[in-house]
Amino acid sequence: MNADVKKIVEAVEGSQELFKHSLPMIASENVTSPLVRQVLSSDLGHRYAEGQVGHRFYQGCSFVDVIEGKAVELAKDLFKAPHVNVQPISGVNCNIAAFFALADPGDKLVALAVPSGGHISHAKFSAAGIRGLKVYTHPFDNATMNIDTDLMIKNIRKVKPKVVMFGASLFLFPHPVKEAREVCDEVGASIIYDGAHVLGLIAGGEFQDPLREGVDVLTGSTHKTFPGPQGGIIMCQKKYADLIDEAVFPGTVSNFHLHHKAGLAITLAEMKKYGKAYARQIVKNSQALGAYMDELGFNVLCKDQGYTKSHQIAVDVSKIGGGSVLAKKLEQANIITNKNLFPWDHVNGTDDPSGLRLGTQELTRIGMKEREMREVAKLIKRVAIDKEKPEKVKKDVVQLKSQYQTVQYCFDGEGAYEFLLGRDR
Ligand SMILES: *Cc1c(COP(=O)(O)O)cnc(C)c1O
Repeated sequence: MNADVKKIVEAVEGSQELFKHSLPMIASENVTSPLVRQVLSSDLGHRYAEGQVGHRFYQGCSFVDVIEGKAVELAKDLFKAPHVNVQPISGVNCNIAAFFALADPGDKLVALAVPSGGHISHAKFSAAGIRGLKVYTHPFDNATMNIDTDLMIKNIRKVKPKVVMFGASLFLFPHPVKEAREVCDEVGASIIYDGAHVLGLIAGGEFQDPLREGVDVLTGSTHKTFPGPQGGIIMCQKKYADLIDEAVFPGTVSNFHLHHKAGLAITLAEMKKYGKAYARQIVKNSQALGAYMDELGFNVLCKDQGYTKSHQIAVDVSKIGGGSVLAKKLEQANIITNKNLFPWDHVNGTDDPSGLRLGTQELTRIGMKEREMREVAKLIKRVAIDKEKPEKVKKDVVQLKSQYQTVQYCFDGEGAYEFLLGRDR
């Protein structure tokens, strides 16, 4: 094998092995089913299908029409969505398209600030700024880790934005969407809900139901709690259908990664059948993990609210080493997490985020339940509080993980972490 290629293939195998033997707890990741991984390596990954189902610019798209048609049909059904566009290739792509559809340069946007959990694409230095939007932030209540509803209403009335955005990357509790609808109508604002993180929970009937609570446009990533291939999806009320479709194509998408959309369609079918049980278990696991970690001496945020209603918990680790150091130590023990800014960090002027954000969606997807969350909490404690050598804890992490190698909540749950190429070699 060519030396460069060998190095690359070995790194791919290395990454595969790492995740096979670790506890993946990054809240924005997941594993797809083996069937989805197979279609991801199909010929669709070499093709183009610009345009809409039945109206393509190139020939050879009859099968893609079936796939995209099925994806749209399944998504409409699963999310009870009046209109669906599956062509965006990522969550940020969805947000850019939504900004193009709903606002013009110079218009005002109200969104969450990044330290309060907002995503970079809502900020003036990123997608919102590129669209030329003037960005204002939602008033945030640090105690409840949520938007302050009364101040939010006053703020919207004062700012009179064109668009109000909900959704976040650090996202523990449902946002006050219903509560915003009336004042948005009063000032003529439309509402975008960025469901990148919680799309799988929404699909399973957990968390909140943005389209029923009054949002105009729902954007999302298809690979976080929604356990599909990396990609994006936009849903909206009927009156925004044409604006959204044009903002996607020709606005901000050409190739839409057809193999990923075949995988998306299959995952939508999986979620239609298994989504309720999967989403319910995710939330139960997060709440259990929060309670066990609290019991073991961690400062888990929002105890009085039951820690979380999502796939995430947030742990303040500022007194036990800080987010940066601890996330690296946990990595040495094969527990993969990320440091996370908390709203008060920038006020205190620290560079080191106080938080760890832990997600349970992937552990749930491979079959872990509350009992396993207790084990996970103990393993994290041994590194973070007992200061045991991470290499020693790693042995027990590998041992625990060896029993969870199969994707659940799908039609063909074998090998969650097998390298398909590795099978034939
Ligand atoms: C992850 C995330 C995105 C970006 O999604 P990509 O699919 O990575 O582009 C957008 N919004 C929020 C709130 C996110 O957390």
